[in-house]
Amino acid sequence: MALLAVLGYPIRHSASPVMHNAALRALDLPNRYIAIEVRPEELHETLKKLHSLGFKGLNVTIPHKEAAARHATQLSKEAEAIGAVNTLKRLGDGWAGYNTDVAGVLGCLSPLIGKGFGGAMVLGAGGSAAAAIYALWRIGEDRVVLANRSRERAEALARRVMDRLGLRVDVVGLGEAGEKASSVEVIVNATPLGLTYHESPIEAGYLNCSHKILDMVYSPSPTPLRKAAEAAGATYVDGVRMLVEQGAEAFKIFLGAEPDKSLMEKAVRSWLALRGGSR
Ligand code: NDP
Repeated sequence: MALLAVLGYPIRHSASPVMHNAALRALDLPNRYIAIEVRPEELHETLKKLHSLGFKGLNVTIPHKEAAARHATQLSKEAEAIGAVNTLKRLGDGWAGYNTDVAGVLGCLSPLIGKGFGGAMVLGAGGSAAAAIYALWRIGEDRVVLANRSRERAEALARRVMDRLGLRVDVVGLGEAGEKASSVEVIVNATPLGLTYHESPIEAGYLNCSHKILDMVYSPSPTPLRKAAEAAGATYVDGVRMLVEQGAEAFKIFLGAEPDKSLMEKAVRSWLALRGGSR
């Protein structure tokens, strides 16, 4: 039985095993998906060990996405442009790296927006913010506002994106995100605000009913951003949908089979509700 796993530190909070195992059982596949806690300094050795143990595929999450890109033998074009990997597929002599967060963002936002939509703002400048910017570029956006706590990190990401994709990125501080909201239609929260810090990155007063908001945070729900979006009548997509969309894409890469996304979503929401993390 070839195994699959998610690697992270910490990893106890991850809903990926519940979600993937539900999809594997439904398709009657013999694989099982487990969570493995891996400290940053252990990543390289762990990847070698899991390869020799015959693991078929891996997801990597915080804090390993950028390091995993460096350890991969080959990279998909998204993973190369973003410089981060969240999915590794076993090759004969190593791992092929992919970034399915791009498909996650596309799966969440594409049904909500038409061509030439009214601009986008990404909050955060880490690996998932980079994936969100790449996805917005794929949808046809040529200019994005990037709001982050650390200006230096945001400017480094902006330079990379402008060089590689030709996309214009306007960097602002996270404190200015509210005021910038009126100039965009789409807002992606790619910070952990709401997960580890119980505050919304944007207050309700800055939002309106034409906003489409993707919040990558999925627990505890309702997040402060969700409350703000609902108070303003904005369209809100939560991090569970993002988790399912990126997970379904990883599942296809691992096994070449189409998983049942509604069943994956149900499994995650039930698990979160049992843990008291979702309404
Ligand atoms: P990174 O650690 O790479 O980046 C985190 C970003 O959040 C940085 O820009 C950082 O700012 C900012 N940040 C961290 N803490 C704070 C704070 N207290 N106040 C303001 N800004 C803060 O993380 P990722 O990009 O990989 O992930 C970001 C979030 O998205 C995580 O919560 C993760 O769980 C979630 N996520 C969810 C997915 C899903 O499937 N639902 C998929 C991928 C990510 P600075 O540069 O100043 O440090």
